[in-house]
Amino acid sequence: MTSGHFDLAGKKVWVAGHRGMAGSAIVRRLAGEGCTILTASRDELDLRRQEAVEAWLGRNRPDAVFMAAATVGGIHANDTRPGEFLYDNLIIEANVLHAAWQVGVKKLLLLGSTCIYPKLAPQPMPEDALLTGPLEPTNQWYAVAKIAGIKLCQAYRRQYGADFIACMPTNLYGPGDNYDLVSGHVAASLMVKVHNAKVRGEDSIELWGTGTPRREFLHVDDLADAALFLMCNYSGEDPLNIGVGTDVTIRELADIIGAAIGWRGSYRFDASKPDGTPRKLVDVSRLSALGWRARIDLPDGMRQAYAWYLANAA
Ligand code: GDP
Repeated sequence: MTSGHFDLAGKKVWVAGHRGMAGSAIVRRLAGEGCTILTASRDELDLRRQEAVEAWLGRNRPDAVFMAAATVGGIHANDTRPGEFLYDNLIIEANVLHAAWQVGVKKLLLLGSTCIYPKLAPQPMPEDALLTGPLEPTNQWYAVAKIAGIKLCQAYRRQYGADFIACMPTNLYGPGDNYDLVSGHVAASLMVKVHNAKVRGEDSIELWGTGTPRREFLHVDDLADAALFLMCNYSGEDPLNIGVGTDVTIRELADIIGAAIGWRGSYRFDASKPDGTPRKLVDVSRLSALGWRARIDLPDGMRQAYAWYLANAA
């Protein structure tokens, strides 16, 4: 593993995907770093259009890029919109990385995802489990695109010496999440379901699948902190996991969200919805060895996320 210091102060830093949960957290986290933050609205720049991306980067010439732009969604969205998840993510990554290399971006961090690992990877999942077995079918489209993005970083490093790095954040939650019950991820969806049950005086909510799959949840502010840490302190071909190192069952997650919101009730299980991969917990030893660890624990993070939801999205 290589470390190499990259200073953000005085630099032009583009956060691609600044409206998303991860990108907006990175923008907040960059505020005190003394850099100029560049963003492009969706109207101004469609990242799926190669010429538009090249022209925008040619005009703006960032020194560093946080590549947080992606078409994302929960298990149902992934499973039912395979074309969008594969095409959008492949083309967005290819356009941004290639144009960033063309204009001489000095450092780029690509946000991947832990769904790139094989469905039955050893737990916790070390980085070198990548491409050692078949993917989880429900999110294979997104996973294949993200694996291609990681490989692009490696390929541009090898062929052109570009300092492009990649990370794999575990499941995220927090401010700016997608609170749509169909396309959202589990943490945001359960927050909405529990909130609605509380407001309506109901004593049960529906959980998809069996409630037994295990997932790890990282607060998006911790993710943003880790992303800056890696941008400044890591340079190397190996992608790095970002996680908290512990996981919970979906049922336990529902209990934690219930406690954060002040609701207790029972669960009805919808067996027509998939469980997805049985367990997704990343091995964070490489990131820990570099000196970073998550700070926000899940109950605290959920209380904070719920306060944000009440103020901004409920
Ligand atoms: P995944 O981590 O890629 O599987 O994506 P999700 O965050 O969407 O789902 C995680 C787990 O939570 C899966 O086992 C889902 O079946 C389960 N789950 C339970 N209830 C819900 C819900 O209301 N929405 C979502 N998205 N997942 C749910």
